[in-house]
Amino acid sequence: LVVSCISSGGLLVYAENVDNNEKIVERSRLDSKKRKKIVVLGTGWAGTSFLKDMDISSYDVEVVSPRNYFAFTPLLPSVTCGTVEARSVVEPVRNIIKKRNGEIQFWEAECLKIDPENHQIICRSTVENLVGENDFSLEYDHLVVAVGAQVNTFNTPGVVEHCHFLKEVEDAQKIRRTVIDCFEKAVLPGLSDEERRTNLHFVIVGGGPTGVEFAAELHDFVHEDLVKLYPSVKDLVKITVIQSGDHILNTFDERISCFAETKFQRDGIEVLTGCRVVRVSEHSVNMKVKSTGEYVVVPHGMVVWSTGVGTRPFVRDFMEEIGQGKRWILATDEWLRVKGCPNVYAIGDCTTVDQRKIMEDISTIFEAADMDRSGTLTIEEFQDVLEDIIIRYPQVELYLKSNHLFQVTELFKDSEGNEREEVDIEGFKLALSHVDSQMKSLPATAQVAAQQGSYLAGCFNRWEQCNANPEGPRLFGSAGRHAFRPFTYRHLGQFAPLGGSKAAAELPGDWVSMGRSTQWLWYSVYASKQVSWRTRILVVWDWTRRYIFGRDSSR
Ligand code: FAD
Ligand code: MG
Ligand code: MG
Ligand code: MG
Ligand code: MG
Repeated sequence: LVVSCISSGGLLVYAENVDNNEKIVERSRLDSKKRKKIVVLGTGWAGTSFLKDMDISSYDVEVVSPRNYFAFTPLLPSVTCGTVEARSVVEPVRNIIKKRNGEIQFWEAECLKIDPENHQIICRSTVENLVGENDFSLEYDHLVVAVGAQVNTFNTPGVVEHCHFLKEVEDAQKIRRTVIDCFEKAVLPGLSDEERRTNLHFVIVGGGPTGVEFAAELHDFVHEDLVKLYPSVKDLVKITVIQSGDHILNTFDERISCFAETKFQRDGIEVLTGCRVVRVSEHSVNMKVKSTGEYVVVPHGMVVWSTGVGTRPFVRDFMEEIGQGKRWILATDEWLRVKGCPNVYAIGDCTTVDQRKIMEDISTIFEAADMDRSGTLTIEEFQDVLEDIIIRYPQVELYLKSNHLFQVTELFKDSEGNEREEVDIEGFKLALSHVDSQMKSLPATAQVAAQQGSYLAGCFNRWEQCNANPEGPRLFGSAGRHAFRPFTYRHLGQFAPLGGSKAAAELPGDWVSMGRSTQWLWYSVYASKQVSWRTRILVVWDWTRRYIFGRDSSR
């Protein structure tokens, strides 16, 4: 097979020679000037998933990110204790691009400013010691913002100076070194027991999935490996999780947060709920106990801050510029288009979908559904459009599910509970009046980010086809002119590894599972989710190595 590619002025000609059967496939491409340019910011979960699903034959794609790799964040807590090596959880962007035949350009730089007026962005290279100009600008036809979020300190004094974060690969590596340093400090001669105790007090602020997983991982590291190496101080180690809410893992099912709390109690991990950290200094944490209002000082050897995420400064500037200055997070519509800014899209942790309320459109829906213009809506008429309604307003499905309404007739019952054959506009409004209370914003997870990236790539791939055939579902109005379905999120469940080879999982269909078998499920899911065979083999090897030799405790 001989493949020769001659490309001239945007015209691409393939000549294939198969078994003397010469077959010439000519593919004329759009003139390169007509090809639209998509610029993608970020190579995290959202950006990478976009690139993987994007059909790059019809667009010029350029990627800007200060990190030239994708990081598999769910394994970062394992990196903090050396269960998995840092190199095993990252995949170079250029490897990902290479698999796409190299038609994607990558620039290792940070976006400093988005200029929507002139369709350009300003970037600064993050390569050190560059010979030449650091700043450059790029023009775009479409801009995909997938820059994730940054750590949120809630302006608590001392956090930036004295806390560790767990967001990037470098953070995880730094935590690993510091944990070991704390042990080395604690065994130095001439320290009082109290001082040794302080050095070995590990405080985690935030009882969400990341904080809890790190606490569990650290507990295993200490009790499986470090106590054997530092036997003299093994009884002085303490791990504390400080949570401002009433329970840890409060985004999970109640059974799971309960299981986690009991397990932590058995393991000797202290959980302080209802406490808010107000200041962090070099060797102590000040917190306020919500119930009593008193302030407590906790001495520490190390603090890991993991309490939610915030907007990056340049995204904040962009929000000001497009009239979203009052919001706390960049908003898109259900098609992931940034509100108030054409040709800019946002996916992943840096954004939220501003879901439309069904009550805002109730009359339009009623009119569109009332096919015979009778002024009333029959069950059949409603059933006909229900599927479209659910796509546009996913809260309807959540409402029907959470109220166990499996028949539309039940939705149409009157105040006395009698079933009705048809409803007028007022009855229709009443039937749906509580639906919007089921609206909830999507969580900041890799799952959401990856699904959004893949959805948006699908939209670009079908652009031509949808523009040629613009008949979308009836209820979508002008927003649906390209017949693109709005983004819908499919929740595939979530895991919480709790240490000691135990994990908890919440799976679709209200299924909760906890214990050792769940940990095995976790291993297999996370091995299968790896972006390449290279990282998959490295990660599985790391797990095996830890099992045989324990973790490495050198700095
Ligand atoms: P990110 O993955 O953060 O990617 C942002 C990208 O933008 C990065 O490449 C960054 O370098 C780049 N960038 C930053 N600034 C700029 C700039 N100025 N210009 C250009 N590029 C820029 N989710 C789960 O679903 N399951 C889990 O088990 C899970 N565990 C987690 C554990 C940890 C420790 C952490 C920190 C997160 C975890 N998450 C998990 C959440 C998940 O990682 C995020 O939701 C996900 O990374 C969001 O993807 P993103 O692409 O929006 O952002
Ligand atoms: Mg991203
Ligand atoms: Mg990432
Ligand atoms: Mg989001
Ligand atoms: Mg009618």
